Amino acid sequence: MLHIGCHLSVSQGFLHMGKEAVSIGADTFQFFTRNPRGGSVRKLDINDMEALNQFMATHHFAPILAHAPYTLNGCSKTARTRQFAREAMADDLRRLEYLDHCRYNFHPGSHVGQGAETGIELIADMLNTAMFPEQKTMILLETMAGKGTEVGRTFEEIAAIIKQTVYNDKIGVCLDTCHVFDGGYDIVHQLDAVLAQFDSIIGLQRLQAIHINDSKNSLGSHKDRHEKIGAGNIGLPAFTAIVNHPALRELPFYLETPNDMDGYAHEISILRAAQHE
Ligand code: FE
Ligand code: FE
Ligand code: ZN
Repeated sequence: MLHIGCHLSVSQGFLHMGKEAVSIGADTFQFFTRNPRGGSVRKLDINDMEALNQFMATHHFAPILAHAPYTLNGCSKTARTRQFAREAMADDLRRLEYLDHCRYNFHPGSHVGQGAETGIELIADMLNTAMFPEQKTMILLETMAGKGTEVGRTFEEIAAIIKQTVYNDKIGVCLDTCHVFDGGYDIVHQLDAVLAQFDSIIGLQRLQAIHINDSKNSLGSHKDRHEKIGAGNIGLPAFTAIVNHPALRELPFYLETPNDMDGYAHEISILRAAQHE
């Protein structure tokens, strides 16, 4: 069975998101750990988190995904921004220990002119500061479109970050279909070749999640504008191949398409129908 969900708002709590997911035919979901554009965080509610754990076990959820705020940039030029990134990540990781089967996804960062090599070092350094040996939560680096000075557009950059981290047995990758397509990887015509490249550079065992989004823009545009499934330049035939690919079909898929709840329910049913037995 396809493991799929969408991005949900945490504003009404954790258990509420679990129920919302079930109501649209999902068996997982994604949420922001804190205000995506600010960074402020909700009061810690351990009872609510434990209630979600129980709910997820009852309903056989696939791992859920906590997404770090966009303002978290561990390779900023500004020391204060780098410090916020380290503290927010460390705090997020401590809180997420109360959730079962949760992964933590973040955008590697933007080097803002310092160069990718410096960016990679600073990102690895942040991970080495924020992570801790007993940590249960696996951290996922998200593949990026290469907008501006984003680090993580190429599989080589992702691999270089992982290589410099201490607890790298707790590090995986989340592949965003819109981002890799905009980044120049032709998952429409060359899915096997792209995955073979991923395997030789990063290792497919690191691939732990898929952000499943269509793209408003063309291959290699470096734009990062998500589109509804089937309405963009990736298209439904490519998504059908993606949800059926032997290297991908067991992974959890998370929709980040421009939709309301009915739209998400519709996309989930389309993608479930697209996956062969
Ligand atoms: Fe993201
Ligand atoms: Fe994404
Ligand atoms: Zn995006």
